Amino acid sequence: MNTASRSDSVRGDGWATGGRTETVEKRRHRVVVIGSGFGGLFGTKHLKHADVDITLISKTTSHLFQPLLYQVATGILSVGEIAPATRLVLRKQKNAQVLLGDVIDIDLEAKTVTSRLLNSNTVTPFDSLIVATGAQQSYFGNNQFATYAPGMKTIDDALELRGRILGSFEGAELATSQEMRDRLLTFVVVGAGATGVELAGQIAELADRTLEGTFHNIDPRDARVVLLEGADAVLAPMGPKLGLKAKKRLEKMGVEIQLNAMVTDIDALGVTVKDADGTIRRIESSCKVWSAGVQAGPLGKMLAERSDGTQVDRAGRVIVEPDLTIKGHPNVFVVGDLMSVPGVPGQAQGAIQGATYAAKQIKAGLKGQAPQDRKPFKYFNKGSMATVSRFNAVCQVGKLEFSGFIAWLAWLALHLYYLIGYRSRIITVIQWFVTFLGRSRGQMAATEQWVFARLALEQVNSDEEEADELAAALGAPPANGKLAEKAKAAVDRRVG
Ligand SMILES: Cc1cc2nc3c(=O)[nH]c(=O)nc-3n(C[C@H](O)[C@H](O)[C@H](O)COP(=O)(O)OP(=O)(O)OC[C@H]3O[C@@H](n4cnc5c(N)ncnc54)[C@H](O)[C@@H]3O)c2cc1C
Repeated sequence: MNTASRSDSVRGDGWATGGRTETVEKRRHRVVVIGSGFGGLFGTKHLKHADVDITLISKTTSHLFQPLLYQVATGILSVGEIAPATRLVLRKQKNAQVLLGDVIDIDLEAKTVTSRLLNSNTVTPFDSLIVATGAQQSYFGNNQFATYAPGMKTIDDALELRGRILGSFEGAELATSQEMRDRLLTFVVVGAGATGVELAGQIAELADRTLEGTFHNIDPRDARVVLLEGADAVLAPMGPKLGLKAKKRLEKMGVEIQLNAMVTDIDALGVTVKDADGTIRRIESSCKVWSAGVQAGPLGKMLAERSDGTQVDRAGRVIVEPDLTIKGHPNVFVVGDLMSVPGVPGQAQGAIQGATYAAKQIKAGLKGQAPQDRKPFKYFNKGSMATVSRFNAVCQVGKLEFSGFIAWLAWLALHLYYLIGYRSRIITVIQWFVTFLGRSRGQMAATEQWVFARLALEQVNSDEEEADELAAALGAPPANGKLAEKAKAAVDRRVG
């Protein structure tokens, strides 16, 4: 690491908060990259040989390969295979430093990024900035649904879901009534995009192949998997032909697909659905998962508000300039799922290409290219694909559409290619071999904590806020009673 570039007092111990003091005149160009997903990692790697110092700040310690999250949720892969530690991935990149922290502020005038880890803030100065903080799950204004229907965006989501799926089978084995058994064996997936299709298919295969014959009181093959979609097609972005193929295949596997079905409520015991004709009905289900929408994170809105005239779209994504920067700040790039560019889908390719483009502009700038001479970003659509079941996928490359086994092989090869690290690839191949050729799955552990920790944490946080507000009002020091216990009790009440 170039120590001259690390002379800022704010970074002296890596933890202090404060202003910036340059003590060395000559320093390298400082690039800060926010996020360690596809955008952040590929942007950083593309600058490997550039004469710059990079600080990659992310609130997660790993690079998460989101397209395979559903395989973690359904016991095929472990977390390690799809989420290698970012600092190990970048070990050989000497111009890059990795910092753990949640970015809470970007000062465009002072050119600093403030990140928070536990109770400490770190201020990191930049000359160029690449913001790649991705998107979160959107419940379309019904955030209360998240209590009972987790999304599929993070490692925690996938592990929680694995616990909920396997826990439902365990509960069904012990159920004391048919009604309870049916509820526990009904799995509802909301949203028939690629994630929903893949999850529904894998829950069905888990029940029919892996768990079959492993219980005494229930037959896991009785499990009912319901895929709900508010629109009139499965995999709508991939076109009617492939959508229909995926639908037929899922139905052959026993997945119930309900189209034009709007979810209006979700509680501990089930889902309320409104059909196109206005009928309101109920599906009793203990295990629900939400894969219906995305919403950009809060940094997008912050950037837009602080730059002169930049807007965000309805999903909170930043409407960037043709060179992926924000208005008035040619050194601040927004890439990946956080950017809004017509024709660029929220997919890994969009993030990789956007980040690579941004890195190229930074390198060109070092060679003297003026921002106004940049060629606009151009997206090259390499196609999209989704697996439906083992040996079956749908694939679209340009005008070419194909499905079945060949598509599945293409899916396999492409995902292996983009997985980071040889170790992950080798282990993944072994796990796939075990799962798809045999009936077993290597990652069937689940714990109570995985299922309850998210809700318990939310409860602790809100209880703590409430207690502190009360304490402040009474002029007392902040309360720290048995909050965790209270939280667990509250969660127990909620999940019934
Ligand atoms: C379940 C699922 C399946 C998918 N399947 C496919 C697929 O099959 N094919 C495909 O092409 N695409 C797929 N995608 C989409 C693809 O994963 C995304 O388009 C891609 O990950 C976007 O990359 P990104 O870098 O913009 O964001 P992300 O990969 O989401 O990375 C965001 C990063 O920013 C960090 N971060 C967020 N906020 C902060 C903050 N405030 N401070 C610090 N760090 C922060 C996060 O920790 C993370 O490291 C899928 C997505 C999901 C969720």
